[in-house]
Amino acid sequence: MSYNGGTFDCLVIGAGHAGCEAALACARMGLETLLLTLSKDAIAFMPCNPAIGGTSKGHLVREIDALGGQMGICADETALQMKMLNSGKGAAVHSLRCQSDKMAYQLAMRRVLEHQERLTVRQDEVAEILTENGRVCGALTAQGAEIKARSVIVATGVYLKSRILTGEWERDCGPSGFVNARFLSESLQKLGLSLQRFKTGTPARVDGRTLDYDKMEAQWGEKTPYSFSFLTREAVQSPVPCYLTYTNTRTHEIILKNLDRSPMYGGKIKGTGTRYCPSIEDKIVRFADKDRHQLFVEPEGLYTTEKYLQGLSSSLPADVQIEMIHTIPGLERASVVRPGYAIEYDCIDPLALAPTLGVKAVPGLFCAGQINGSSGYEEAAAQGLLAGVNAALFVKNEKPLILSRSESYIGVLADDLTVKGTKEPYRMMTSRAEFRQTLRQDNADLRLTEIGRAVGLVTDERYAAFCEKRENQAQAARKLKNTRLSREDSNALLRAHGQGETPQSFTCEELLRRKDVSYRELRQVAPALPRLTDAEAVTVETDVKYEGYIKKQELQIRQTEKLEKRRLPQNTDYAKLPGLRLEARQKLTKQQPTTVGQASRISGVSPADIAVLLVALEKGDLHE
Ligand SMILES: Cc1cc2nc3c(=O)[nH]c(=O)nc-3n(C[C@H](O)[C@H](O)[C@H](O)COP(=O)(O)OP(=O)(O)OC[C@H]3O[C@@H](n4cnc5c(N)ncnc54)[C@H](O)[C@@H]3O)c2cc1C
Repeated sequence: MSYNGGTFDCLVIGAGHAGCEAALACARMGLETLLLTLSKDAIAFMPCNPAIGGTSKGHLVREIDALGGQMGICADETALQMKMLNSGKGAAVHSLRCQSDKMAYQLAMRRVLEHQERLTVRQDEVAEILTENGRVCGALTAQGAEIKARSVIVATGVYLKSRILTGEWERDCGPSGFVNARFLSESLQKLGLSLQRFKTGTPARVDGRTLDYDKMEAQWGEKTPYSFSFLTREAVQSPVPCYLTYTNTRTHEIILKNLDRSPMYGGKIKGTGTRYCPSIEDKIVRFADKDRHQLFVEPEGLYTTEKYLQGLSSSLPADVQIEMIHTIPGLERASVVRPGYAIEYDCIDPLALAPTLGVKAVPGLFCAGQINGSSGYEEAAAQGLLAGVNAALFVKNEKPLILSRSESYIGVLADDLTVKGTKEPYRMMTSRAEFRQTLRQDNADLRLTEIGRAVGLVTDERYAAFCEKRENQAQAARKLKNTRLSREDSNALLRAHGQGETPQSFTCEELLRRKDVSYRELRQVAPALPRLTDAEAVTVETDVKYEGYIKKQELQIRQTEKLEKRRLPQNTDYAKLPGLRLEARQKLTKQQPTTVGQASRISGVSPADIAVLLVALEKGDLHE
């Protein structure tokens, strides 16, 4: 028996990291939005590592923030420690990572959701997506609520028909024992979406009072305060340490002796796991030559004694996990309060989606997050934001937002999933972004805030702060070019850096190009330079020091954009196009890429096939 569950512009299914961003985007763009989730106690839940950011993931968080999203603000508010990773490498891979207080993060996000105008958050299980004339029109819940909606976003994460396993023990449920979603998989299949079975895993949690910290190495955060959000005024200090320790040969022996009791090695788990977050079993088997693996003991929060064992993800039986943990220095008397487990779940094949994250076959239906085959809080939140914006633009009948690979990591993420697809959990990495020299985390606002403003997501407060920052940076760049230091001052600065003296004087820009010369010290000898905040100075410095690389990359971007702009007609039968190889004909017909650039990234489509397409377009054999 169904009942009227209400009428909304947008319906978001699932309040994980993707669903939260999607729901906020729709409501903030002025639409009546309903966020339905299995358990309100699992809003923005971090089932795995209590951390946000990291290599390339820090870039995603900054981009979400620059577009007007929420994750960066909540991460800053609830951070226990901040670290700038890869600071010894080039600026393009500098990545911020914070240790988060998990429960505080959930509460911070829940408070924002529950106080957001035009947003209703309700607990229920969506069982079926409803369509009318092939277009989405709402959903039916397991408790019988029939909801009418003009667009629907599926952000169901790792809960679809999920099952968790620890050794011989298993249960049909979501992470940490939350209920799972039993019915939606079939409904998605009826809509023509093909499903994959993926898996991931998490380590045990231990009671921090039972650890021996003297036997481990404290890992403190940065002294320099950092923040994810461009809006955060009081950047975050780092009061809480993590601890570093290592497995050893005794640990490895116990694991190898019990591999047959591991659901993964025993064949009980069917799902495909992630290559870049291997379980400890995987590491011992794959890197048998290594006699130790590093582990980080991370705080789960200020108000809990639970500690997370980063690097010890396992689905071995609980008794084996306890035995192996007690071989690790500092954990000899550890009380295991939650054993690690593996979880397998249904997700879709993202090739069914357009780069807007809309389902090509069902107008108005969007998918975001782990349901699309990705892995990671940040990857999920980025997709949630993009899908939310596009669901809102769909309802408003406005031009969709497609972020290109040269504009953002979010563009790389959406394009990789929807054009290349994935057969295992997809994790973002800097190596995936061919234009990473220009996609730095410090300039995310310069690349994206105008776009966020144009779609109606960036608030006046954020836009004003952005314009002021941009103007400060532009003024500084102009002054650097036009301010020349005397020969004496130039040489004094070069001497300070152990660099040879020269007969000529330099502009500040020329001096800043020199290794280790900073904007701050230049300003001491050239007070005409405007005062900048640390964040503003980082961008100005990096733009000057990497100018050559950036210019070269911008040239590459212009070249690829030519292919990106060559549009391809939809619903084309490429089998009829002579000169194309069989695999290319099949893949192009199945995927219907919208641009030649996209076609060039489909696996199995060669440069020769692209040449055939370009000639066909020139000759008019291919037309809209
Ligand atoms: C055990 C485990 C280990 C992990 N390890 C890692 C790791 O090491 N590294 C990493 O990067 N990522 C890891 N992840 C993945 C990370 O947690 C996810 O990437 C991230 O949480 C995905 O966010 P999401 O919003 O897509 O989905 P989720 O956070 O899974 O949220 C989905 C939401 O949808 C709701 N929901 C689902 N179905 C329905 C329905 N039918 N009706 C209503 N509501 C519904 C759920 O209640 C939930 O709130 C791990 C996840 C798990 C479970």
